[in-house]
Amino acid sequence: MNKQRRRFLRWQLFGEQEGRCYYCGELMSLSFARRDNIWPRSATLEHLHRRVDGGGNNRANLVLACLECNVRRGERDPETYRLQRLDRRMV
Ligand SMILES: [Zn+2]
Repeated sequence: MNKQRRRFLRWQLFGEQEGRCYYCGELMSLSFARRDNIWPRSATLEHLHRRVDGGGNNRANLVLACLECNVRRGERDPETYRLQRLDRRMV
């Protein structure tokens, strides 16, 4: 996936999700400057079906998640993780 497509998808998903993280529902910040994408609420592209498990870059497999959720998810199933995050924000 090239840089332009990544940018477009992040922008598009940000609008679709009304700026909220797919997992925890918190408002995220969207920036295209690398230096701004290190905060817990930075919007990141997330693969529902992880790439290591064979998940692709197709649109249906991508959501926008805050960096914190992205990093914390690990090997958890996306729907299970989402319910956990929505329920208790700090799982
Ligand atoms: Zn989140």
